[in-house]
Amino acid sequence: MDSSNTSHSRNSKLKGLAASPGIAIGRVLRLDERGRRQFYYMEVSAQQARTEIKRLREAFAEAHARLKEIRSNLKGELGGQHEYILDAHLLMLEDKHLIAEAEREIRSRRINAEWAVRNVADRLAGAYRHIKDPYLRERSADIEDIATRLLTTLSGHTRFNMSTLDQDVVIVAETIWPSTVGELDLNHVLGFATDTGGLTSHSAIIARAVGLPAVVGLHEITKNAGTGDAIIIDGAAGEVVLRPTKPIIRTYIEKRDLDRERRVEASVRSSEPATTLDGVRITLRANVELPAEIESLALFGAEGIGLYRSEFLLLNRLPELPDEDEQYQVYRKLAEATGEHGASIRVFDLGGDKLSLDGFEEEKNPALGLRAIRLSLKAQEIFRTQVKAILRANSHGKLRIVLALISTLDELRDAKRIIEEVKRELAESGAVHDPELPLGVMIEVPAAALMADMFAREADFLSIGTNDLIQYLLAVDRANENVAHLYQPLHPAVLRTISHLVRVAEKAKAPLELCGEMAGSPIQAIALVGLGVRTLSLAPASIPLVRNAIRSIDQSRVRALLAEAVKLATTGEVEALLGRQLPRQAPQFFAALSSLG
Ligand code: PEP
Ligand code: MG
Repeated sequence: MDSSNTSHSRNSKLKGLAASPGIAIGRVLRLDERGRRQFYYMEVSAQQARTEIKRLREAFAEAHARLKEIRSNLKGELGGQHEYILDAHLLMLEDKHLIAEAEREIRSRRINAEWAVRNVADRLAGAYRHIKDPYLRERSADIEDIATRLLTTLSGHTRFNMSTLDQDVVIVAETIWPSTVGELDLNHVLGFATDTGGLTSHSAIIARAVGLPAVVGLHEITKNAGTGDAIIIDGAAGEVVLRPTKPIIRTYIEKRDLDRERRVEASVRSSEPATTLDGVRITLRANVELPAEIESLALFGAEGIGLYRSEFLLLNRLPELPDEDEQYQVYRKLAEATGEHGASIRVFDLGGDKLSLDGFEEEKNPALGLRAIRLSLKAQEIFRTQVKAILRANSHGKLRIVLALISTLDELRDAKRIIEEVKRELAESGAVHDPELPLGVMIEVPAAALMADMFAREADFLSIGTNDLIQYLLAVDRANENVAHLYQPLHPAVLRTISHLVRVAEKAKAPLELCGEMAGSPIQAIALVGLGVRTLSLAPASIPLVRNAIRSIDQSRVRALLAEAVKLATTGEVEALLGRQLPRQAPQFFAALSSLG
């Protein structure tokens, strides 16, 4: 039953997916989770153990008080025969043996309160599960319930403070939830390594957003790594070395320093425009998730924001939502920071593999469920508040609104109608705002790609979201490491779809841009330019390398190459063609790229 630290002495190399480049060398901090709530294993000093015991006692008391409150609120509603369940839970929280056992765990093993609760609950629930009597066997679920309540309480205001760490750490977890980022003190985090996730999973996007090396889809790293183990992450190679020997560490220190030098060199030239050798100008915008990224826009030479993932505003906030004024302040900052280039604010893209709203039931198939625009049209007050804040902030710059996961024109029309209503309300109330702003549609669903000519007529611009478009076109869960090999951005079907969208947009004279993760990979970005895409939006830190890639190619030659690629049968054939021809077309760039590892 003991699920604590699993320290292994041998060094081992694990292969995963290269989610965010860079090399991190440090010690593991392992997060664990049950039911989406992450907590961590932590060794503590004797003095910290006393603090942990205090936290534990407070958590028992607080959980008890909360449960009593629930019981009295539900009295009558539940009916007498069900109250005994809550009574049983209250008794467990009063059980002196249970508290004493958890305290003993902290004291003798010097671990944090969360881990002690987890261990004691696992042991107890395990014992109940083996009992023959069905009634008693059921009690294991009650124990799990109590444990969850205690862990929830512990992760509240008395959360173990990461900033008290005296060394930097590499986070090892099953997955990195957006909320995890808010909980961690990123000044102490060197990188991420996760069991699950594909290259466009949120773990990967988050790592790129905060500019930290990451490897995802490692399957069993949480089983193999214990807190405190030495670890190396090679984000570009998609490799992790656990418990490396000294010579291995030395090799990676050299590699890390060289890697940093190259990246600094690339970013120094950020004032040069992304123009191909034959003079085709490509616009490079930034994908932004976190406020801290706004400051890096100028450093990396981003031409405005092509995608602001506004749902990140809700990190660690739900079920509470930021009100109109709070949102206004954020959007105003984006408008002011991007000036003439402007910023595209994507309406909350909730549900699916992202954050979910309270009050909506869990779905069996969330990727096909009530997410993004579907949720906005259902929870209209949230949508209206957001649009109001955007229109007000628009008087400080040039904002655009983008709608995610559109699959029918009705959704676009409904959204437009609501936006018009909000404009009227603002005008009537006399609030300062600017109603003139473009409305864009993200092309993420195959149906929308096929109907792009219609969308081009009714929307002001189209923005290809390749992360989702690939997921839905190839029927491959973008966050599932088991099918990550089938998630193929260079699949001929993907290339054909993008090529189709370029032609449709040209014909309709509709602005077209692309903001999926493909834009952040130099080779894929070149392929996109070859297909005719002229505006790319990507993680700010990836801009310098992609800019260099674009400056090293001749657009007419890559166009010819891609015209061949779309006629090929498999991703392997496309990769082989590009792998053969691109280094010939841009030898210097590809030599530098391969030395980055
Ligand atoms: C996309 O799907 O390509 C996209 C940019 O949006 P997200 O990754 O946030 O779903
Ligand atoms: Mg998307």
